[in-house]
Amino acid sequence: MTTLLEKGRLGESLAEYEIVDMHAHLMRGPFPWQESSADHLVRAMDQSGVKTSLVSSLECAGFRMEACNEVMYEATQKYPGRLLGYVYVWPGDPEAVRAEVERRLEQGFVGIKMLVLMGYDYTYPGYAPAFEIANERRLPVLLHTYGGQRGLADQVPTIAPRYKDANLVLAHAGAQKVEEHIQIANEHENTYLELCGSNATYGAIETLVESVPLERIVWGADDLPLNMSHQLGKVLGADIPEEAKKQILSTNARRILSQIRK
Ligand SMILES: [Zn+2]
Repeated sequence: MTTLLEKGRLGESLAEYEIVDMHAHLMRGPFPWQESSADHLVRAMDQSGVKTSLVSSLECAGFRMEACNEVMYEATQKYPGRLLGYVYVWPGDPEAVRAEVERRLEQGFVGIKMLVLMGYDYTYPGYAPAFEIANERRLPVLLHTYGGQRGLADQVPTIAPRYKDANLVLAHAGAQKVEEHIQIANEHENTYLELCGSNATYGAIETLVESVPLERIVWGADDLPLNMSHQLGKVLGADIPEEAKKQILSTNARRILSQIRK
């Protein structure tokens, strides 16, 4: 039987594995592509054989929450089932946050995206309505927790027990702070480790698979701006069982999506 790694090396389609990308964006700005970012993202998915991406729009970024999410909504309408929306949240006004999240969930969005890079901690009161709704509906919440920036050890241990039914997806766990991620994942059952990163700690995926329950590791590409095939290659080439690769690339994310309450 041809393995996932062999298929990847041969450039064969991985479509049969029904891969789910838990971390993608719509973006523009410094990137020179000549098509819409939704078209660009779906083309990358087709090239890599990725079936579905959970996407947040950062096209407008910053405080323009509604405008960002409108771009995302249009993309989900253009690519139904291929692109699923995270509601991007700017926490300046808690009532605006609640209204925006409720409205976008009505439109079919499936999760929430928060970026500590915007200058607000995840414990900031403006985020609370979004976490409360995520808790009620068992939504995935994608949290940027990268690098020397705040968000991981100083905030996730506070948020995770407060919103036990929200599934907190910790971005970039395969790229850095591996030991911190292992500790948090083992202490909080509603945290998931997502693997993308422009850099990669050698052996990180193997260490995570050895150290946390396998169902708590999910795959994301951060495409755009990162490259989907690069992020996929980290899992295909990892020294872990074939079955573990399939769970990371598809089964675990599908379980998170199946838990969402309508
Ligand atoms: Zn990202």
